[in-house]
Amino acid sequence: MMNKLPDDMVNEIVDLYLNQKDAISVREIIARYNLNISSNQLRKLLPLVRSDKNCPYCGAVMYRKIVSRGHLGDPYCKTCGHIFYSDSENICRCRKCDEGRREFIKIIYDKEQPKINFSDLSLDYMVLFVKLIRQTGNFAIIRGEMFWDLEIERKILLQKSLISVSPDSPVNAFDIHNFPYNFFVYEVDYKINIRFSQLEKEAILEDTYLFGKLTEEEKYKVFYRCLHADVMKRFKSLMKARRLEPEILPSAELEFKKLYKELSYSKIITLCDRVARFCSDKVITRKMNRKVAERGALRMVVNFWANCTRNGWTVADSEIGDCGNDLKWCIESIMGKELTFLNEVVTFEKN
Ligand SMILES: [Zn+2]
Ligand SMILES: [Zn+2]
Repeated sequence: MMNKLPDDMVNEIVDLYLNQKDAISVREIIARYNLNISSNQLRKLLPLVRSDKNCPYCGAVMYRKIVSRGHLGDPYCKTCGHIFYSDSENICRCRKCDEGRREFIKIIYDKEQPKINFSDLSLDYMVLFVKLIRQTGNFAIIRGEMFWDLEIERKILLQKSLISVSPDSPVNAFDIHNFPYNFFVYEVDYKINIRFSQLEKEAILEDTYLFGKLTEEEKYKVFYRCLHADVMKRFKSLMKARRLEPEILPSAELEFKKLYKELSYSKIITLCDRVARFCSDKVITRKMNRKVAERGALRMVVNFWANCTRNGWTVADSEIGDCGNDLKWCIESIMGKELTFLNEVVTFEKN
């Protein structure tokens, strides 16, 4: 439409549209030039406007789009796509700008970190790294997304410099504002600042490392921790499935942990399920305040079990196959047991 008109006429129309907002309406412009279009089509048909800028990357003239009457968009380069942001920091994502960012990331994050020997790590860190590494087989890099469920651990590892942000992380893992100091914690990659011997690497990959190296007592320690983490996760999800957000009060958690001495994993999960149902029924029928249910549920599991013993009620086993992967791995690889271990009351007695 517009390209059928002579250039000077198009320029006139652009001038009227852009600079004479108060003098002439869009409808009048259309009528004056006999344009066979509706009012809201005009702006879209107007050509780009040359700016006084040249692209810093390829030298081409930059153009501006007419965004509304009296307003032009930021200058951009038709050749390489670079956009010049006139009144804000550079948030252009063209290839050249991203290349520049990549260099900047390297400058800020490419620092040689001191490495610690794997064998010098404490038990907790060893277990954590084995758990992460055995999923990928990568001894140098951990993807940020692997910390989804491990936010506290991620922070501690970073603080202790056991991991650090990799300079090879994807550019868009960094926030364009305050670049590159702000980054998206689950999108960057992390370097592992730990030295592994060849034997350690093989043992970790074959999943025999912890199995072979730990004392019985250490194995049980790891097991109890995995067990409790799994039970808490199941408890929370059973509650959440009934739209309740349980609060884990430290005093209640301490009482709860004593259950492991008397009950198997599969029976504890059954109790958790019963309590979640009980709470949800009471809240729905307004016999219990939601907050009371959410704060008290964990302790209710303990009380529920006390009731069972008092009255001689038996508790059924729940499905052990539903336990989490970490616990499964711990039982099979660290403890060297079958999953049916979860039907037993597990106690470790020091000789
Ligand atoms: Zn350009
Ligand atoms: Zn650019």
